[in-house]
Amino acid sequence: MNYGSFFIYSLTLCFSSVLIAQNDHVIKREQMVKTQLQARGIKDPLTLFSMLNVPRHEFVPKNLEEHAYRDGALPIGGGQTISQPYIVAFMTETLKLKSTDRVLEIGTGSGYQAAVLGKIVDSVYTIEIIKELAISAKSRLENLGYDNITVKWGDGYHGWPEKAPFDAIMVTAGAESIPQPLINQLKDGGHMVIPVGPSDNVTYLVSVFKKKDRIITKDMFPVRFVPFTRNE
Ligand code: SAH
Repeated sequence: MNYGSFFIYSLTLCFSSVLIAQNDHVIKREQMVKTQLQARGIKDPLTLFSMLNVPRHEFVPKNLEEHAYRDGALPIGGGQTISQPYIVAFMTETLKLKSTDRVLEIGTGSGYQAAVLGKIVDSVYTIEIIKELAISAKSRLENLGYDNITVKWGDGYHGWPEKAPFDAIMVTAGAESIPQPLINQLKDGGHMVIPVGPSDNVTYLVSVFKKKDRIITKDMFPVRFVPFTRNE
């Protein structure tokens, strides 16, 4: 084999292994959607489509990539976690999103949940309190081409008044109560989903619906989330 054909041969090998690896992720993602989401009752086509297409393995640390499609949460650094795929899907479905919506997320973490929302709606605003996580999520989302997601470093307790009101709000850290600024920044007819509970007791996933000035809340099921922290 001369040098030229050896070069082409190596290049082909290299491309095929990249293709096989990508294909492997696609297969794992299809299985995740079928066995972890649809089998447990997730029906919203927008949520299912989005989770079939967002490359979750790009949002976990390199050494955990092979576990990205497992039925569980994974560490993402700074003592924080990327939520279990089913919880991401359930919370997304609960918001009853439309493609024209503007959504606020509190707790960017890896950026995965924001990406799932970003595939469904027009614009996503997401706030992360840990600076390093905010910076890395911002560059990860940019590199992956999500141009409708804006990441901000800060305390999400205050929401994002300049961008309010929002059609939907999702909080992905366990709070002791529902922050009033978030209720104020929700549109009439808007949905919020937030884990709520005292720090020493069970946290429930709570859905919030704003109808005129009425706030209708419903406890759904117990969940485990990293705590909602404050920048005093
Ligand atoms: N949604 C993330 C996972 C969230 S883990 C993902 O898809 O990867 C919860 C995140 O909320 C953590 O990164 C934590 O630092 C952040 N957080 C906690 N309290 C916060 C607050 N007051 N404002 C903004 N982010 C907060």
